Amino acid sequence: MGATIRGRHALVTGGGRGIGRAIAARLTAAGAHVSIIGRDATTLAEAKASGDVWATARADVTDEAATRDAIAQLAAKAPFDIVIANAGWAETGLFERSDSALFRRMLDVNFMGVVTSFQAALPGMKDRGFGRLIAIASTAGLRGYPAVSAYSAAKHAVIGLVRSLALEYATAGITANAICPGYTDTDLIRSGAEAFASKRGISLEDAKSRFAQDNPMKRLIAPDEVAESVLWLCSPAAASVSGQAIAINGGEF
Ligand code: NDP
Repeated sequence: MGATIRGRHALVTGGGRGIGRAIAARLTAAGAHVSIIGRDATTLAEAKASGDVWATARADVTDEAATRDAIAQLAAKAPFDIVIANAGWAETGLFERSDSALFRRMLDVNFMGVVTSFQAALPGMKDRGFGRLIAIASTAGLRGYPAVSAYSAAKHAVIGLVRSLALEYATAGITANAICPGYTDTDLIRSGAEAFASKRGISLEDAKSRFAQDNPMKRLIAPDEVAESVLWLCSPAAASVSGQAIAINGGEF
């Protein structure tokens, strides 16, 4: 399996931490050249120094112009074959207290960030007859949860996007898919658990284990488990897999 993506240039947005970092490390280990984008210079520098990534550029994916510039800068080294649109963030809030600004923030980072990243990295894929567009959506893109309506709506939009792109690029050698993790052990869940712990007066570990209860396997997903599914989608073995929303969630529905 390793040699099958050897030499491919992969972009991972939000590749400095969490799920994105695990994906970057896995694709690099499989022989790809991996470029990452993030907002924090120290995180990017640390990822580069670790050997998990080939190149870095700083951009906030909600800033379309900056993201397009960063992707163009990285693509100048080699055109992209693979895009993992992973950067994202969850804000909670009951629907009646979620104002339009919160909905826009969730759509900007979780949906428009994917649109911009895919569009900016696409040039040349059609000509070369190969491309992999992969969005890290969420189980919240497949079902609803209380108090995250804006996040869930944005992740549902991502799944609509990849289903449409799968058809638009079906004869071009380009596949488009979404990976939908359940609660995964990263900073994102840590900060959610911290808020939950302080609200309920319980320990961080207890709060994390409450999240784990949503997973029928009663555990958080490991970032490496998400990374393995991304690697498979990038491989020739998954050439006919397109327009799918693949749940990595222990069977939660
Ligand atoms: P983390 O908070 O651990 O990491 C998020 C990464 O995205 C960081 O590298 C961060 O980098 C980057 N990032 C966040 N916002 C932006 C932005 N506006 N522009 C550029 N980069 C950004 O989160 P996870 O690894 O947990 O989440 C990754 C993806 O997986 C997200 O899309 C999330 O919605 C999804 N997901 C996560 C789940 C979970 O339980 N953890 C479950 C289901 C889906 P920096 O701060 O340096 O910019």
